[in-house]
Amino acid sequence: MRDGLGIVTPLLAKAVCLVGGVAWFVIRYPHQRRSRHTPVRESGRDRRERVLLGLSLTGLGIVPWLYILAGFPRIAEHRFVPALAWAGTLCFASALWLFYRTHAELGRNWSVTLEVRDRHTLVTGGVYRRIRHPMYAAFWLWAVAQALLLPNWVAGPAGLVGFGALFLFRVGREERLMLQAFGDEYRVYMRRTARVVPWVY
Ligand code: SAH
Repeated sequence: MRDGLGIVTPLLAKAVCLVGGVAWFVIRYPHQRRSRHTPVRESGRDRRERVLLGLSLTGLGIVPWLYILAGFPRIAEHRFVPALAWAGTLCFASALWLFYRTHAELGRNWSVTLEVRDRHTLVTGGVYRRIRHPMYAAFWLWAVAQALLLPNWVAGPAGLVGFGALFLFRVGREERLMLQAFGDEYRVYMRRTARVVPWVY
């Protein structure tokens, strides 16, 4: 408790993960509801997309929740480091902020999968100004937060693996879909933005 770092216990770190997951759902829910009523012009929703969404849900949802609520798999437990849990809490807070902003900015253009909607507009401002995939950046931050918060070799990195697969197999496809829909407008936008880390990648 000497430096205040020890205030964060494994139990608290797990609570941060749970509360963060619920907050994620609360931010997304109204958009999910509304999106049902916005007609889709072009859809890339196929089996591959469903598998990727399932992997992401497993890594960021099912595996960590099983660990937090049932302690499974106990054999993969490792030492808890309070400083890492603090870093994870900060990561989770920034992920939630970014996630919230991307939904506000995308508005009715949002989809859980690859879709171009009727009257779809290209968003290039706010958190979309320097990077093309701020929502995926928020998911990466969430996955990193999970790895830092959960002292378990399986449940911790599961989000990085699950979301990593979705990201790797989706991002190129999404950009091709946007190029098809917006042509030069998206090409110019691509030239002045990075994918998830401003000026880097
Ligand atoms: N990849 C983006 C959006 C994820 S939501 C991000 O990480 O922030 C996925 C949907 O958003 C896709 O169906 C695509 O049609 C739409 N989309 C992606 N980039 C967009 C943009 N700049 N403007 C408007 N819609 C976009």
